[in-house]
Amino acid sequence: MFVSRLLDFQKTKYARFMNHRVPANKRYQPTEYEHAANCATHAFWIIPSILGSSNLYFLSDDDWETISAWIYGFGLCGLFVVSTIFHTISWKKRHLRMVEHCLHMFDRMVIYFFIAASYAPWLNLRELGPWAAHMRWIVWIMASVGTIYVFFFHERYKLVELLCYVVMGFFPALVILSMPNTDGILELMTGGVFYCFGMVFFKSDGRIPFAHAIWHLFVAFGAGTHYYAIWRYLYQPNTLESKVSK
Ligand SMILES: [Zn+2]
Repeated sequence: MFVSRLLDFQKTKYARFMNHRVPANKRYQPTEYEHAANCATHAFWIIPSILGSSNLYFLSDDDWETISAWIYGFGLCGLFVVSTIFHTISWKKRHLRMVEHCLHMFDRMVIYFFIAASYAPWLNLRELGPWAAHMRWIVWIMASVGTIYVFFFHERYKLVELLCYVVMGFFPALVILSMPNTDGILELMTGGVFYCFGMVFFKSDGRIPFAHAIWHLFVAFGAGTHYYAIWRYLYQPNTLESKVSK
């Protein structure tokens, strides 16, 4: 509560950039400024994520690397593309209620697959213990369960939704932390910290101007840090020895 009071901009001159908070069962309505920022902050990353994913694809020198580059690239680009489409429709075509509602669900579902896809290169390309190796498929089960949850309970229990993302985000990290090869752990944790800080803004609509756009930026920083780690430790030629012997 102290934090929320500290972050209350409603009585400042910046309040014109945002609307009032809404009750838990309603959806926050961004201002025009916020709508524009929400679109821009994810649209900007679409091309870099396509280029970055292609780069991993071209650096791949075996089947598993290629598959992992596709999965990861699909998750990374998908996140920014879906988010940009959703925010654009939500801004300009709000009257298309059903479309907007479905896209909002889709935007939330993609996050689960994005998290699974972010872990995929580590789980697929690094040596893991016999138990830890099961995480390779468990992450996809978790993403599917999250998706089903969104389908049935979208926006119904917002705190549960947030908790699901936190579990999905951190549970596979237990396996990553137990990898014999620890290269890249620091970058992975740094990315995780970005996401965690971002969540403060994710929950601050109507309390901080541009809160959702700031959340988007934290997501981009987290994703960028994770991309760097994947590129450097899993796809650069000098890390060949750290891969699973196939
Ligand atoms: Zn968004």
